Amino acid sequence: MIKTLLAFSTAVLFLTTAGYGEEEHPTHWDYETHGPSCWGEFAQECQKGHLQSPINIESHKSVPLKGSLSLKMNEDIHTTADVVDNGHAIQVNVKNGGKLILDGREYTLVQFHFHGHSEHTIDGKQYALEGHLVHKSADGHLAVVGIMFNEGKNNPVLDNVLGGIGRTIRIDPQDLLPNDKKHYYHYIGSLTTPPCTEGVQWYVLKAPMTASKDQIADMRAHYDHNFRPVQPASSIKLESK
Ligand SMILES: [Zn+2]
Repeated sequence: MIKTLLAFSTAVLFLTTAGYGEEEHPTHWDYETHGPSCWGEFAQECQKGHLQSPINIESHKSVPLKGSLSLKMNEDIHTTADVVDNGHAIQVNVKNGGKLILDGREYTLVQFHFHGHSEHTIDGKQYALEGHLVHKSADGHLAVVGIMFNEGKNNPVLDNVLGGIGRTIRIDPQDLLPNDKKHYYHYIGSLTTPPCTEGVQWYVLKAPMTASKDQIADMRAHYDHNFRPVQPASSIKLESK
């Protein structure tokens, strides 16, 4: 009887948590039963948008980027951050993030999170993991830097993140970035999760980072299928530098 009661109260707790803040939709989006093909039920833009992310980046179709849209990253700030499991990904909420300057507009790093397989593909190649550094400007514009990971050497930052879930850690987001930050693909797309809001400035760095086989397995033990399939890119202008 006690067992039954416990199971029942757990189920109630789960339903309450899942439904919180989602009054119009009693269920919540995910990557399984309520996966990407029905995200339109949660947010129209996911289904009806024309600048949806992620995309397959076709390198030969990219045009040279105008010099004015250069990416200047000042992420080298040691900061404290809360590592959370947000129900869709392992996410690091930074307290005092670095800054990006795009065309004179300043964006502050708000959080970064990881996808258990890459969301963007480059010339059809899917990478082992993808990290997204989400930056926001004072007037609400979003810029996301995408970092690809290949299987290879152990990555100390990932150890820090994976070992810190549920805790506050000290971290330098700069350590997450490759040495070469000058070469990247840029396009205007969307958030890759509901509400799939468009107008997001994407910067996918060309130089990949590495993560060890164990780290990739560890990340996938939390989230293996948290990647949205690539979206039609016909109306997207892809630039590169
Ligand atoms: Zn993401």
